[in-house]
Amino acid sequence: MTVVLSYSEDRGLALELSKGASLLAATSGATASAVVVDGLGETAPGGHVLVLKSERPLAGDYELIAGALAAAAKAKNSSIILIGATKQGRQVAAKLSVMAGMGVLSDVRSLRMDGGRLTGVRGVYAGRFNATVTTDLPCIALVPAGCYQAETGAPPEVEELAVGNLPSRVRHLETRPRSKGAVDLKTAEIIVAAGRGFKKKEDLALAEALVKALGGALGSSRPLSSDLGWLSEEHHIGLTGIYVRPRLYVAVGISGQLQHVAGIKDSKVIVAINKDKQAPIFQVADYGIVGDLYQVIPALVAALAA
Ligand SMILES: Cc1cc2nc3c(=O)[nH]c(=O)nc-3n(C[C@H](O)[C@H](O)[C@H](O)COP(=O)(O)OP(=O)(O)OC[C@H]3O[C@@H](n4cnc5c(N)ncnc54)[C@H](O)[C@@H]3O)c2cc1C
Repeated sequence: MTVVLSYSEDRGLALELSKGASLLAATSGATASAVVVDGLGETAPGGHVLVLKSERPLAGDYELIAGALAAAAKAKNSSIILIGATKQGRQVAAKLSVMAGMGVLSDVRSLRMDGGRLTGVRGVYAGRFNATVTTDLPCIALVPAGCYQAETGAPPEVEELAVGNLPSRVRHLETRPRSKGAVDLKTAEIIVAAGRGFKKKEDLALAEALVKALGGALGSSRPLSSDLGWLSEEHHIGLTGIYVRPRLYVAVGISGQLQHVAGIKDSKVIVAINKDKQAPIFQVADYGIVGDLYQVIPALVAALAA
């Protein structure tokens, strides 16, 4: 009998994957085990939890974590490992795939066993189409947040596994706290995102004023963070940035190219402000304001303050 392992350094995602692993195990005569590294932490998944211990801390070092997961897969005879599709999760999966000779299904949801193979669905062309992908076992599936309902409450059945002294070329130099006021777009309920419709960096004060009036967080399209450097990378929303799902998303001076829309399409309500009524953003917007942002934003801020 095989064991479906699940792992993410993101605690919330780890709880979701633990649920995904048990669902998959239940339909394939396998058992499920949620992997955590170093120690149990505050929020452990329910069910069977495998705590991997090494001679030095594993957390934060993707080479060590990949090595530890390879050791766990061997010890537990596991042929399926679900890994959270975070930045670190992608690095771990790539490394583990080479170490353990496992295939990788990237960004898959709706996982199921199909004739001894693992099958899943992934969005392609920035989420416009769905592709069904499949691979032989053993394999790794990188699973994004939001695919499974996290499960907490059940007391975990904990097992420790010593993985020895693993090699890693990563050297930890320092840990810096996130700067004060850093944005966390993943959890923001309201986001105002600025695009190239803003003529200069100083004009972002207008977007900030709307953020303040709505009580939200500031995001941006890629050019503002990656090309122009007006905002830091943590503001970058879209296919190559952060996927967001706020209650309200206000796109200001953003054209709505599919790479941007891929990251916002799960927002509950999308409002677009753009002076070009043909801009593609209006195709995904629930509400649209066709107008010059330099006039629309001050009017909105004044209306919200009234
Ligand atoms: C591989 C790849 C990955 C990418 N990943 C991402 C990604 O993750 N996220 C992302 O955002 N982009 C990404 N891009 C870039 C993407 O294709 C677009 O180029 C980008 O999203 C455009 O940003 P924008 O909408 O701010 O700018 P533009 O496309 O230049 O649009 C500016 C908009 O502002 C409007 N406007 C101008 N002046 C005003 C005004 N005064 N008032 C109101 N409206 C005004 C214009 O009508 C226009 O619609 C990626 C591209 C590639 C090739």
